[in-house]
Amino acid sequence: MSGAREQIQTLLEGAERVLIVAHIEPDGDAIGSALGLAWALRRRGTLCTVACADEVPASLRFLPGSEEFVARWRVDEDVMVVVDTSDTARIGAIYPEDARHEVPLVVIDHHTTNLRYGDVNWVEERAATCQLVLELVTTMGIPLDDVIATCLLTGLITDTRGFRTRSTDAHALQTAVTLVNAGASLGDIMDAVFRSRSSTMLRVWGLALSDVHLEDGVIWVSVSQEDLERVGAAPSATEGLSNLLSTVRDAEVAVVFRELRPGVVDVSLRSAPRVDVAAVALSLGGGGHRQAAGCLLEASLPEAQALVLNALRQSMTEKTTAAGGGTRRGVDDAGHSGA
Ligand code: AMP
Ligand code: MN
Ligand code: MN
Repeated sequence: MSGAREQIQTLLEGAERVLIVAHIEPDGDAIGSALGLAWALRRRGTLCTVACADEVPASLRFLPGSEEFVARWRVDEDVMVVVDTSDTARIGAIYPEDARHEVPLVVIDHHTTNLRYGDVNWVEERAATCQLVLELVTTMGIPLDDVIATCLLTGLITDTRGFRTRSTDAHALQTAVTLVNAGASLGDIMDAVFRSRSSTMLRVWGLALSDVHLEDGVIWVSVSQEDLERVGAAPSATEGLSNLLSTVRDAEVAVVFRELRPGVVDVSLRSAPRVDVAAVALSLGGGGHRQAAGCLLEASLPEAQALVLNALRQSMTEKTTAAGGGTRRGVDDAGHSGA
């Protein structure tokens, strides 16, 4: 793994211009990793542009440089870096259909489901991609400052839901200490990312929760376009809802089905350590982590429900019948909800 990191270091040290790309529907880890790396490389004179196909959510606009994101692919950059993104579909509309790698494409990611689509892929399990960025910046000898540290700590905090996931190991806590020592404010970041809900969001959650299903250890809700229109909410209003469902004692898996447009459903999955929802998501064309994953389905809401619930049932039955059952330590991450 460190071979990839060394190659990335060499590429970045030789580059004058770098484009750093975050995934669609960006979360704190995607935005924090992109900005943390950009600010660090700028300290040594590199010209960095940050890109994302979608807008930066309001809860992350406190991050220095968050207003700089552009929705474009490479123009004249010497190196491209894609962070926290397990496949090219997650790069979104800015990814060219005939993408030719005229310059090196670097992938830095902590998803075990990563499809290694770059020319150099540094994929290693961590609580957040921001940890990998910190390791890179440190080996490049770039001194940390409060701006870099704030960006990177934000990603660690959001992907661990405030240090509550099982991925929060000693190394993750050590990273947090390093970043706080470098000037990041834990309290300011916690407030910015976890006290950011609108009352409209709660109205959407209310509609969804009024029809909650709990069957065979799977708790699930659906949010239709009609629900969103009824309360005047954006599709992002469901962010955090799967985390809330996953706090129900009798549920091993939590699912939120969200209709993005007619015939397209986004699925957000959370699980207890025994169940690997990343494997289920991957089999449906998505990805993620053992305990937090997702996929995008071309289906109606009822079709998506049938598809996912069947896949889950099958996976959970296999787990139950398999000897030993397996409760290996899981890695999960989540949206910025503190639910
Ligand atoms: P979310 O439920 O949106 O918070 O996502 C949970 C995890 O699943 C994150 O690590 C995402 O990167 C991953 N994920 C969500 N949707 C997809 C998708 N359509 N394809 C690949 N990974 C996804
Ligand atoms: Mn992410
Ligand atoms: Mn992440």
